[in-house]
Amino acid sequence: MGLDRRAFIKFVVGGAAGTLFTPIPWKLADDASIWSQNWSWIPRLKYGALTADATYSKLCPAGCAVKVKKVAGIAYGVEGNSANELSKGGVCPLCATGSQMLRSPSRVAGPMKKDGDKFKPISWDEAEALLADKLKGLKGQDGKVAAISGDLSGTANEVLSGFLAGLGSKSYYYMPADQTAMAKAWNGVMGGSGQIGYDLEEADLILCIGADIMDAFGPVVRNQKAFAAKRPMEGDKTLTLVYAGPVRNRTAAVADKWVAVRPDGAAAFAMGLVNLLVKSGKSASLGGFSDFADLAAKFGPEAVAKLAGVNPEALKDVAKALLVAKNPVIVVGSESGQGAGVALNAAGVALNAMLGSLNVLPEFPKAVASAPDRAGLLAKDLVGWLAAVDAGKAPAPEVLFVYEANPAYSLPQAGNMAKTLRKAGMLVSFSTFMDETAVMADLVLPAPHPFERLDDAQSPYGLGKATYALATAVVAPEKDCKGTPDFILGLSGKLGVDLGFGAFEDVLKAKVEAIGADWDALAGGAVHVSDKKGSAQASLDAGAMSKALAGIKGEGLVLIAQAHLNIGTGKLATPPLNLPTIRETELYGKDVFVQMCAATAKSLGLSEGAKVKLAAGGADISARVNLSEGVMPGVVAAPLGLGRTAWDPYTKGKGDNVCKILAVSAEPGTGLSVWAGSAVSVAKM
Ligand code: SF4
Repeated sequence: MGLDRRAFIKFVVGGAAGTLFTPIPWKLADDASIWSQNWSWIPRLKYGALTADATYSKLCPAGCAVKVKKVAGIAYGVEGNSANELSKGGVCPLCATGSQMLRSPSRVAGPMKKDGDKFKPISWDEAEALLADKLKGLKGQDGKVAAISGDLSGTANEVLSGFLAGLGSKSYYYMPADQTAMAKAWNGVMGGSGQIGYDLEEADLILCIGADIMDAFGPVVRNQKAFAAKRPMEGDKTLTLVYAGPVRNRTAAVADKWVAVRPDGAAAFAMGLVNLLVKSGKSASLGGFSDFADLAAKFGPEAVAKLAGVNPEALKDVAKALLVAKNPVIVVGSESGQGAGVALNAAGVALNAMLGSLNVLPEFPKAVASAPDRAGLLAKDLVGWLAAVDAGKAPAPEVLFVYEANPAYSLPQAGNMAKTLRKAGMLVSFSTFMDETAVMADLVLPAPHPFERLDDAQSPYGLGKATYALATAVVAPEKDCKGTPDFILGLSGKLGVDLGFGAFEDVLKAKVEAIGADWDALAGGAVHVSDKKGSAQASLDAGAMSKALAGIKGEGLVLIAQAHLNIGTGKLATPPLNLPTIRETELYGKDVFVQMCAATAKSLGLSEGAKVKLAAGGADISARVNLSEGVMPGVVAAPLGLGRTAWDPYTKGKGDNVCKILAVSAEPGTGLSVWAGSAVSVAKM
């Protein structure tokens, strides 16, 4: 069976367009044709049986059930798994190119060690011996070994964090995300247990405050499916969607109502709703609620108008709609999927509690007994720790592991963060692709592509129920890679750290047994869904909230970074086949566009297409201006995912990396590092 260029493009573009995303103007970029003619990673297909193997994609934290389509065992495409009750056969443009990414020229071919400015190949045994030698002298010294993980749902974290604990280190951090900010609020400041969930399937009104559920927040494909199920093309709609945020993004575009809210004022907007609900007689059985309600009384409609730029009548209308709805659900987050503070998340919890919609998912039991609790790790502040290392207030680690993450590119103030990562004595990247962090690492130990490995996911953030899924290897590895948890288990054996297992498959089998799920069913693509609920016991800290909310000024020009899955994620660069899906108003040639409304542009003396420099946090980027009334006054919006300096020639060098100018500050009262809606200056070049 052959697959010619025309059919190939038709297939993949069709796959990308076959999602629920709003149709967009397609840009006829040269890249697609160059790609389709020259890339070595176009599948060379043979005659043979057509199969579609079910697995679970971990290409992004959302985790979706997919089928990898193969001919004669060679993967050529990805489709959603319609048997899955959450993603219901949907797949986003990123996963649609998952099989092409198997053969990406950016893939790491095998283990490598830095030799001067270059890498030289080494064997897995050499890598293990080198690390064992380095680590044996660091045992028992907290802070000497650290790890950063971008996998927020996998049991691999139990292996890695248990390994660090066995070495005597507590320095295990997750990459920042909406989930980590909520964990800091719910599990940290509020003292709750389990994980906050959002039962969108049962909702008759969804209010998103900041959270772009159609493009960047949580399990996006499931969010789209939950929305579509209650908004049929024909028949009655049984769901109202309201978006409150600074930009008419993909969620606002399909919402019944867009309420413009400054990103730095989102928590004030939420407190304004708390205030109106309290006045209507609503309460919540959370500790400290009385003091919290007193605090909310300061956020009347006029005060919220000043702090969040929200029309007072619009605020009252949203409150009325929440009071009338039978099953309203409030989803809070950041437009970029990271950088929001405790104040917004705690106010979101309070709102859901007042409306009877607080949904707490229980944690599944651990398999690795010595691993620290997941919730506690999620609540830790990676950016705060790196800032302390940079300032000399915390020691730089002698060995820093980076797993499934690309912090050198995707953390706020990315340039500074990359410099701080370089302070580690030895930087070890477990990356499938040669990303910006792998390029600067001392040791690159390639992890298999998600379709080549055994992995799992527990309750991806945003779901309404606790779930557990297995990802199985549905294709043979294209490269000399090794599952990171298996490598760590081998290393732990060399160092006398007993994690209780010799192979990751045994860890997962123990996990599945502890959960009471069926291994064979999970391996066949089924998802274990638990109906159990976690405890909703927690306390609002009005003192910390008061300080955090006092930090809101609601003035000046602020930047909002927008995450779009078709452009990629912090971990995964734009698959070259997705380049034509990027709008001309996001990237044209090598220029990234930032969007602002005509009033903002006028106040800055700018017009359509003007070349500008944006500066914040000691860094700057260059861009062009696109005028859009889909951005509220006082806000500049810019797409995340561009400005790559590593990866392949089709992806790198396009646009600039907005993360460089996401300025970090410590949220007053909680100390959490925040950057959603940070101040920015814009000057004509
Ligand atoms: S949201 Fe997209 S990239 Fe993420 S797992 Fe689902 S289909 Fe894959």
